[in-house]
Amino acid sequence: MTANPQWKEQFSCFDLVAKTAECSRTVVHVGGLAIGGDSFVVMAGPCAVESERQLLETAEAVAAAGARVLRGGAYKPRSSPYSFQGLGVEGLKLLSKARKQTGLAIITEVMSEEHVEVIAEYADIMQVGTRSMENYSLLEALGQCGRPVLLKRGMTARLEELLRSAQVIAAAGNPEIILCERGIRTFETATRNTLDIAAVPVLKTVSHLPVIVDPSHAAGVRSLVPVLARAAAVVGADGLLVEVHPAPEQALSDGMQSLTFDEFKEMMRDLRRYVPIPPILEGMRPQLLVAGGTH
Ligand code: PEP
Ligand code: MN
Repeated sequence: MTANPQWKEQFSCFDLVAKTAECSRTVVHVGGLAIGGDSFVVMAGPCAVESERQLLETAEAVAAAGARVLRGGAYKPRSSPYSFQGLGVEGLKLLSKARKQTGLAIITEVMSEEHVEVIAEYADIMQVGTRSMENYSLLEALGQCGRPVLLKRGMTARLEELLRSAQVIAAAGNPEIILCERGIRTFETATRNTLDIAAVPVLKTVSHLPVIVDPSHAAGVRSLVPVLARAAAVVGADGLLVEVHPAPEQALSDGMQSLTFDEFKEMMRDLRRYVPIPPILEGMRPQLLVAGGTH
């Protein structure tokens, strides 16, 4: 425990997720995929599932470029009640269709306890958003959901608080947790959030859980996403969660930070210089090579 000696006192608050001599690394298995193992796992897709065409085209493009998990919100946490709220169960069905078509595993956000069961039916990984990191009844329900959980850092949460929330899920019975740094709120306004890149080595030092980075919500603009992704790869992250859209300017949410297919492919090409990523499949049906989800 070298990252922060002051944490010694609070250590018992996250002892289930803390790194020890007996438990130094958790590898989360999703179908044939290992997150937190030796390869770098890229999860990519639109902010929100908008239509069958939007999702399937994106799934094919990101799979061909080397992503192994498809992201897409069916239930969206929006700051305005008048913004697009997501397609709900219809969106989950489209995600499931995309999995069948491409072999990609599926990650999607769960905002409320009452949706845990239905989302677990369709998703391979349950995403807890930044606004829900302290929703303890949701975290407890996820302890029994039978699926791995990707836990995003609250936008004003300390790393210790993130680990406490992970502990709640683990204590409720689910040790399959992936931590995600997605930028925090600071006085800086040039970026949507401030990517706390040091969070990666700190979390990897004190916890046995896999750590991934979401450069999209940190940046807020697509031009910064590839370089933040590279920083994440270099600093030791186990993977990425990235927003990609067939026509970002028409996206119903987070278009400004979504990469085009070409930009995503280019980013993956760059990342291959630093971390092991599956090869680009030019003109090949991705489902022939991808390990697939858990359904
Ligand atoms: C998302 O991944 O689309 C999302 C809403 O992210 P966050 O919870 O980090 O804002
Ligand atoms: Mn988003």
